[in-house]
Amino acid sequence: MLTLQQALDKILNTLPAPTTHHKVSLEQAVNLVCAEDVISPINVPSFDNSAMDGYAVRLADLDKSLTLSVAGKSFAGNPFMGEWQAQSAVRIMTGAMLPVEADTVVIQEDVLLNDNGTITLSELPKKNQNIRRIGEDVKIGDVVLKKGQKLTAVSLPLLASLGICDIEVYPRLKVAVLSTGDELVSVGQPLQAGQIYDTNRFTVKLMLEKLGCEVLDFGILPDNEQQFEQAFLTAQEQADLLITSGGVSVGEADFTKTVLEKIGEVNFWKLAMKPGKPFAFGKLPNAWFCGLPGNPVSALVTFYQLVQPVIARLSGADYKPATLLHATAIAPMKKAVGRLDFQRGFYQVNPQGKIEVQAVGFQGSHLFSAFVKSNCFIRIEQQRGNVAVGETVIIEPFSDLLG
Ligand code: AMP
Ligand code: MG
Repeated sequence: MLTLQQALDKILNTLPAPTTHHKVSLEQAVNLVCAEDVISPINVPSFDNSAMDGYAVRLADLDKSLTLSVAGKSFAGNPFMGEWQAQSAVRIMTGAMLPVEADTVVIQEDVLLNDNGTITLSELPKKNQNIRRIGEDVKIGDVVLKKGQKLTAVSLPLLASLGICDIEVYPRLKVAVLSTGDELVSVGQPLQAGQIYDTNRFTVKLMLEKLGCEVLDFGILPDNEQQFEQAFLTAQEQADLLITSGGVSVGEADFTKTVLEKIGEVNFWKLAMKPGKPFAFGKLPNAWFCGLPGNPVSALVTFYQLVQPVIARLSGADYKPATLLHATAIAPMKKAVGRLDFQRGFYQVNPQGKIEVQAVGFQGSHLFSAFVKSNCFIRIEQQRGNVAVGETVIIEPFSDLLG
């Protein structure tokens, strides 16, 4: 049996990064991956401006008296264009350009308005206060985004704020999805004896969409050698990656194996993880191949742990290891030594500020409903046995992929 890490290493060492990229507008770039280091063409802020509503003043004018005349206004988008007078201040608003002569801004709450139109400061201000300096956020030439970063609702607006309107991206990954099994029926159809609804294709499609892939749905395949071969061949011509579910466990594997060996090079792995023991990975002539186990929980866990990195690599994204945290078990957990367990768990921060976790319901790989009540995987190490209350375990909070 392979460990999850060994499988991941094999996958990541085999897969190439994309070789082509093209320019798209920011609107078209969401969830795609940046194919260049992006350099800022401007300073942000691009001019010194006020952080508060108040008065721009010059310290040199304040050595004898804290009373000043008001020479004009600087509003956001409408700077003060007049000449700076001795013993004067300029009324200034948040975001408005700071007159070059001014060296500090006094907030309006610290200023007394006199009847004759002058102002009196309540105390001597400090130099540079309430001023946002040019380039404080981003400087011309700074690398603001790196090649391999995903383009998100945070990174794209950053580019917009720099006046950048298009960006080099790697192509959107095309992924073909199909489910295998004589027992499967699409939702919306009535169930005959012995039939079940196809959940995996739906799960995988939804996750692929969240990951920014283009999905090609090849439906359900009956367990039939000729139909497998035909469907796999068609799918791999149209997509960069083909994801199937079912038919990789002992008994069925031989049959899927024969077809996949005939048309490509696919490895059938037994993974030392639970759920998700069988997993197939390899290459067809024109596409990569991932074969998920049929059990819906196993399919979801193997997608999350193994196919996500495949998609990241093929899309040109940097591989990001999972975020793991320590938590205290508040209920016992059953665990057999020998495999890395991904139990579905619910974690929360207790009133003392410590993270506590418990497994949610029964953990069978055919029991999907517990997923809905969970917010993390509890990763119980391969060599570990049962977990007692009070022991520390590692948790992996679900990313927004499962949110
Ligand atoms: P298999 O890996 O094909 O041996 O399937 C293992 C188990 O998962 C069996 O109980 C199948 O009926 C079930 N299964 C396979 N594919 C799906 C699917 N797409 N949706 C729901 N259950 C499935
Ligand atoms: Mg099957």
